[in-house]
Amino acid sequence: MTAVDLVGGEGPDPRRYRPSHIAGNPAALSPQQRELIDRVAALGPRFAERAARHDREASFPFENFEDLRAAGLLGLCVPRAHGGLGADFASYALVAAEMGRWCGSTALSFNMHVCACLWSGAIADALDMTSAQRADHERIRAIHYQRVVGQGQVYAQPFSEGGAAAAGAAPWGTIARKVDGGYSIRGKKIFATLAGAAHWYGVLCTLELPGQVGGGTWRDAIYLAVPADAPGVTVSGDWDPLGMRGTVSRNLSFTDVFVPDEARLMPEGLYHQAASRFPHMFATLSPTYLGVAQAAYDFTVQYLRAELPGMPHVLRRMYPTKQHTVAEMRIKLEATRALFLQNLRDACIDPDKDTRMRLYAAHFTIMENANDLCRLAIRTCGGQSMLKSLPLERLYRDSRCGSLMLPWTAELCLDRLGRECLYEAGEQDEQIE
Ligand SMILES: Cc1cc2nc3c(=O)[nH]c(=O)nc-3n(C[C@H](O)[C@H](O)[C@H](O)COP(=O)(O)OP(=O)(O)OC[C@H]3O[C@@H](n4cnc5c(N)ncnc54)[C@H](O)[C@@H]3O)c2cc1C
Repeated sequence: MTAVDLVGGEGPDPRRYRPSHIAGNPAALSPQQRELIDRVAALGPRFAERAARHDREASFPFENFEDLRAAGLLGLCVPRAHGGLGADFASYALVAAEMGRWCGSTALSFNMHVCACLWSGAIADALDMTSAQRADHERIRAIHYQRVVGQGQVYAQPFSEGGAAAAGAAPWGTIARKVDGGYSIRGKKIFATLAGAAHWYGVLCTLELPGQVGGGTWRDAIYLAVPADAPGVTVSGDWDPLGMRGTVSRNLSFTDVFVPDEARLMPEGLYHQAASRFPHMFATLSPTYLGVAQAAYDFTVQYLRAELPGMPHVLRRMYPTKQHTVAEMRIKLEATRALFLQNLRDACIDPDKDTRMRLYAAHFTIMENANDLCRLAIRTCGGQSMLKSLPLERLYRDSRCGSLMLPWTAELCLDRLGRECLYEAGEQDEQIE
């Protein structure tokens, strides 16, 4: 059974609405990409069924992660040489988008896990390292990947601190001090998706160099995996947000937490190189929101055709105003998908300025359009469509979170794009007194 058959619900009946493949035309994908998307689509109906409860309770979908584990998807971006599926950035994004159409919170949480594998895997492979660093990284990442592939463990990615660091405008306030055999970590992270659910927290810290207490710059960032049960790690704070409630993104604090040298997810000093040279990694959040947008569109068509299970047979598709809105939604969805696919083709180490600008534009558009598609869906489906018994109001709330997510909030995308549109590297204006 393919992704398309499953979304349709009742097999390939040509009279029923058959939702599009998440990539539009699957013929353009590799056989592995098609197979991975179908693998997620096979789990999707279970995720969708559980989504309402996790949203209501703001609880983490542990069962979905069990399913991902059983389907071998936790090792999606672990290199094949380390027992994983060896998926690259583009394949990951396609998988995440398909997952997002079934459960946004699961897809967003999965993103955090996969990023730890991508940063240390395909991205690290493209970076410049000395041969000693490369050998050391190879030895250490084998330990991390064994945990993922061999033991089904999950990594989270708590970067945000509530200040300018996650926006890339200040060094991380979480400090890792070099000590005998490892590092001692102190600091606090906010909005840590998978808090209390992950086995490991991939924490970005500033490496405190000798004689530089609390000092260091953004260049001194170090990426360390902290065991969730290490002494000194605390999860705190309420979690009762507007949307993406199943991510359970609570606060984490680290009080003199010791981790050994093997905690490094990248060699010292390499995170800065990775972040500067592979900016597409900061767009890994947007595939989830393409999935949410697709789900809002699919819902709208099924609702207006009176094909949603359990609904009274009231057709609404014959009104021209509704037809116009669905057309507008389809145009927006296809434009969003086209930019999403463009990002996947463009992703590379050291993109040129035009490619970077396309990336900001695409990321901004996916995040904003996802919310706009949900808005249009509610407006055209009408009052009964936003009842809590249906998924649309959750999609709407989930979609609202996209453009708030650092490092590339909608505002920060506009800032970066606006500046790069008008200035070349190194250009400055004269000071106006
Ligand atoms: C559902 C959900 C899940 C999340 N999961 C994670 C996670 O797993 N890991 C993680 O690290 N984070 C996660 N986040 C956090 C998210 O990425 C943001 O960091 C968080 O929303 C920050 O909130 P804030 O109100 O402090 O942001 P803001 O106030 O928007 O930004 C924080 C700081 O960034 C700087 N800044 C903001 N805008 C600008 C601007 N235009 N120009 C210059 N500087 C600016 C400022 O210094 C500001 O104080 C999640 C968020 C959500 C909603």
